[in-house]
Amino acid sequence: MNNVRHDLVLLVRLQGLYDRIAAAIRERQTPPPEVRELQEANLARQAELEGIETQVRGLERELGEVRKKEEEWKLELEHFQRQKGTVTNEREFTAVISEIDYATKALAEAAARRRELEDSVVALTADIEERRNARPEEESAHRDVVDAWEARKAELMATVHQLVAETKSVESEVAPKNRARFLRLLEAKKGTAVAAVVDGSCSLCHFSLRPHLQQRVRRCEEIIVCETCHRILFLEELLDATAGPAEEA
Ligand SMILES: [Zn+2]
Repeated sequence: MNNVRHDLVLLVRLQGLYDRIAAAIRERQTPPPEVRELQEANLARQAELEGIETQVRGLERELGEVRKKEEEWKLELEHFQRQKGTVTNEREFTAVISEIDYATKALAEAAARRRELEDSVVALTADIEERRNARPEEESAHRDVVDAWEARKAELMATVHQLVAETKSVESEVAPKNRARFLRLLEAKKGTAVAAVVDGSCSLCHFSLRPHLQQRVRRCEEIIVCETCHRILFLEELLDATAGPAEEA
């Protein structure tokens, strides 16, 4: 078998290996629907939890302000109550009573708002706690789904490593010039560097080859590329004809 024929057979085999690598990587990057649903549910739950935590932080900020205001009204009230004991006439008495009424009402309002906020914080904190505690349970319910996917991913990774080792071994048997050409095309042509000639046309871009070029592909004395997509061309029967002891690695 001439060198070009030998290399072409190996390049077609390499293409098959690269296709399997790409398929394994694609599968690894595409979680199955049940895993995706789980991931989405986790994200949604996490977002909800964060929303509630933000709400609690807001309420706690307001609670701090209301407590301060309540404290201020308490002092104000004490001040007017002390003043009430020192009034000397009816007019001053009426004025102090009016201040006391105002401060009492304001204090009651602040206290009511403070209790309302405290109740909300307690309720939301309990809600957060409940959601957090519910997680391990839900996670264990879905653990087999996640474990199965993790196992599949590990398997795919091992497959990729094994296939990469195989490509290295096959690549080492190809003439450096042809190997470099193949790898450049692989990069430039989105992972497909070779194309079979089927019924006189490039099977990938479907451009029909001139008879003269078809002859040259058939002769296998040089690497011929498609005039349109520039991929390395080969005939399927090349592989059949060389599928023998020579092809065994
Ligand atoms: Zn083509």
